[in-house]
Amino acid sequence: MSTMPAAFIGHGSPMNALERNRYTEAWRAFGAAVPRPRAILVVSAHWYINATAVTAMAKPRTIHDFYGFPQSLFDVRYDAPGLPKLADEVATAVSPTWVGHDNDSWGIDHGTWSVLCHAFPDADIPVVQLSINADKPLDYHLGVGAKLAELRDTGVLIIGSGNVVHNLAGTNPRLPDTGFDWAQRFDEQAKELMLDDPAEVARLDGHPDFRHAVPTPDHFLPLLYVAGLAAAGDTRPEILIDGYAYGSLSMTAYTVDLPAAAPPAETGEGSPAVPETAPPLDMTNM
Ligand code: ZN
Repeated sequence: MSTMPAAFIGHGSPMNALERNRYTEAWRAFGAAVPRPRAILVVSAHWYINATAVTAMAKPRTIHDFYGFPQSLFDVRYDAPGLPKLADEVATAVSPTWVGHDNDSWGIDHGTWSVLCHAFPDADIPVVQLSINADKPLDYHLGVGAKLAELRDTGVLIIGSGNVVHNLAGTNPRLPDTGFDWAQRFDEQAKELMLDDPAEVARLDGHPDFRHAVPTPDHFLPLLYVAGLAAAGDTRPEILIDGYAYGSLSMTAYTVDLPAAAPPAETGEGSPAVPETAPPLDMTNM
């Protein structure tokens, strides 16, 4: 079996689950280009707890972990099965790091389903989530990502879902497809490291714009898992798509070892991330 690709996806607003825009089209193209995985393991920004844990239930529920959005978003379900066996495999892969088995508290959150409903709309591939341990330093997350790399050789598609730049307090809803200068500086530096030397991505904590771009680490950390597995495989990520939303979010997505038959990357400014007719967003939890 060949090595499964991997990806980091900048998921942005939960409304992307209902929209079709240049980002969601790129996610669809990614899903279409990937060989069918036996399971999808997602490190989502929205499962940020005080432990490293993995969902181990056979039927994970769809979690609507936000508020202030239209009912149509709460109606979205992503009924992919789980894969309890993969929870054990994850625990073995990252040993001696301890991994808790979650049988009933979490499921599939919107960091996962807002992307997978585009990339794998049939929801027929098992999905397992890995939590982000909020107590650990950046190098820990790189290290866990490196240890997960071996699962790629067994047909597991690993996806990190967050945003490289994610400052909700700084968002401006009137700037749907704009990035502030500091957001662009940070995202560009992240690109340089991801494309050239992903093992060094944790150095971004010394960037002068780090505290603006990463006021809380939850959306940044999924990037480190993908950087770690790329470094472990001695491969260089590529940009799937890039852009900015609401001034203080970067939508940059990276792929690792995506087959060459994939459509060419579309970069730079394009159509708005969200149509201007979109309802006002409560950005307190996206
Ligand atoms: Zn989010």
